[in-house]
Amino acid sequence: MDCIFCKIIEGSIPSRKVYENEHVLAFHDIQPAAPVHVLIIPKKHIATMNDVQAEDGPLVAEIFAAARHIAKELGVDESGYRLVNNVNADGGQVVYHLHVHLIGGKKLGALIG
Ligand code: IMP
Repeated sequence: MDCIFCKIIEGSIPSRKVYENEHVLAFHDIQPAAPVHVLIIPKKHIATMNDVQAEDGPLVAEIFAAARHIAKELGVDESGYRLVNNVNADGGQVVYHLHVHLIGGKKLGALIG
């Protein structure tokens, strides 16, 4: 298994966890792009959004539910935040284990760049 996020899930690579349930884990990004920068991942290894199957629907819903919970916990639900999923090379994906960035804590700039 050569997936850094799978290693974070199993605990062999440390992380600063902010949320965990049976199917989803969230932890602070190691190189934060904003005061709040959390990665929300499924515990099931799915490489990219392109690999999400119809039966993963409940899992995707859990990722969004976790985002809502974390945004409230970290105090950015009212001020606002952004959820980002990078897909493949042109999308800027570096880690090939599905993840949603939760970014906030400041006024964010233009989305497209
Ligand atoms: P991507 O570009 O959407 O694939 O984002 C990958 C993210 O993972 C980047 O923001 C990295 O800073 C972050 N990252 C990589 N390794 C680690 C780690 O070990 N802990 C926490 N975040 C990581």
